[in-house]
Amino acid sequence: MADPRTKSLKTVDEWEHEADVVVVGYGGAGACAAIEASRAGARVLLLEATGGGGGSTALSGGHLYLGGGTRPQKAIGSDDSPEQMFRYLMAGGDGPDEHKARLYANESVSHFNWLVSLGVPFTDTIWEDRHTIQPTDACLIWSGNEKAYPFVESARPAPRGHKVAREGDAGIELWKHLSKAVEASETEILYDTAGRALVTNDSGRVVGVVARKEGKELFVKAHRGVILTSGGFIMNMKMLANHIPRLYARIDDIELHGNPKDDGSGIQMGAAAGGAAIRMSEMFLTTPWYPPSSFTFGIMVNIRGERFINEDCYHGRVSAGAFEQPEGKAYLIVDHQAFGFPESDTRLAATEESIPEMERALDMPTGNLMHTVMHYNEQASRGIDPLFRKQSAWLRPLEASPFAAIDCSVGSSPYYAFTLGGLRTAPGGQVLSEEGETIPGLFAAGANSSGITRSASTYCSGQSIGDATFFGRQAGSSAASSPPW
Ligand SMILES: Cc1cc2nc3c(=O)[nH]c(=O)nc-3n(C[C@H](O)[C@H](O)[C@H](O)COP(=O)(O)OP(=O)(O)OC[C@H]3O[C@@H](n4cnc5c(N)ncnc54)[C@H](O)[C@@H]3O)c2cc1C
Repeated sequence: MADPRTKSLKTVDEWEHEADVVVVGYGGAGACAAIEASRAGARVLLLEATGGGGGSTALSGGHLYLGGGTRPQKAIGSDDSPEQMFRYLMAGGDGPDEHKARLYANESVSHFNWLVSLGVPFTDTIWEDRHTIQPTDACLIWSGNEKAYPFVESARPAPRGHKVAREGDAGIELWKHLSKAVEASETEILYDTAGRALVTNDSGRVVGVVARKEGKELFVKAHRGVILTSGGFIMNMKMLANHIPRLYARIDDIELHGNPKDDGSGIQMGAAAGGAAIRMSEMFLTTPWYPPSSFTFGIMVNIRGERFINEDCYHGRVSAGAFEQPEGKAYLIVDHQAFGFPESDTRLAATEESIPEMERALDMPTGNLMHTVMHYNEQASRGIDPLFRKQSAWLRPLEASPFAAIDCSVGSSPYYAFTLGGLRTAPGGQVLSEEGETIPGLFAAGANSSGITRSASTYCSGQSIGDATFFGRQAGSSAASSPPW
């Protein structure tokens, strides 16, 4: 049976709308694609499933992962370069597509400047403390694993999280400027119009979109190309069960981070037209166990009382490690000196006067936690962590009673997740098949595609929106310059 997400050109009697470039989904990637395609002289039509644009981009924290020597990096005296940024993006194993990472790192400063040219504000300041999101309008933050092992051995550390200037979450401020630039272009927007299927001709070229508006089917012709930018699939239970069963198995314990239209429709349309969907089992998963940053002096242990990671990593990498522990149980053990008042909704599992009492309170095998703490303390007092290589700045023996255990277990701590997999694309946004062939007329960007974001253990705050806005622009330019069919 033919996949209902593709239609043959032969079945189309009449096109209700037409444009050079049709963009499906008006979030961060779609807006940037439309701006660039329009600036390149293409007539652009945006289809948006809801009554207004923004998607997850507008809901987000507004962090973008940028570097290589941006204006705020220079202002605070940070020594970054495209080469160091590239090395960082490729570090930690299983790197992203090398050509995409290279392009992203090389063009990162000019992408920052492009956003500024649209009016997106960034201050020339840094929030030095460890935090999930700067509570002020400070721009820079260490939003990844730059200073932690093994990444620190591959690239010179630099803060690359750039938050749009606004206190706390700033996605809405980013969206204000992106949408203003779209409105200033000649782009036409159809709201409440959901892309349902791609129209292909006999040679497999994508020539249009079938959409649904007010219960009616609409045929939209794309002379040069269709760009899929309709987000990820965290709200599609069937896709989660198929592709990320380990997440699906704990679905009741995890907050699904996204908007209701993160239903994978774009990925499914692209795959039906021959595009390869890759890294579909990967997700970003976290529980923001810091701030306070003093928690980083603590040790993260599993139900056996054993450490499993260097605690100075980004919260997402530590959380991904915790998620994989037996029964998904993990505790952050801190002493009186390291204790602080958590900003996030974390739960205290126990407070005890001694480590053996803590061991009993957490139902751990006798002697295990004691052994872990003794070994850790012995090495920490010498400023080393031979087991996991936490950096010396965070090493201090845990000996100031009382001790506390912060419950970072799945089901106790607020875990949240979004998907990272999507259509395989070339650096210019062209959708590629399993064999690496381009699907003529088809482009994708943002959470619809698999970009520089890789996995829960290598993700950094800002990589999704950085990727969506940057590769959205590439897809817009490429589609506008594609020959018409
Ligand atoms: C609360 C929250 C905070 C986050 N914070 C950050 C952060 O600070 N930094 C970061 O990098 N990432 C962050 N993320 C992730 C990031 O926001 C997303 O990965 C990114 O915005 C995706 O951009 P996009 O353009 O691909 O999709 P979106 O911005 O979600 O846009 C997709 C659009 O497509 C529309 N659509 C869906 N299906 C269809 C269809 N069939 N037809 C037409 N339209 C359709 C949707 O309605 C939506 O408007 C956060 C996510 C959440 C939920």
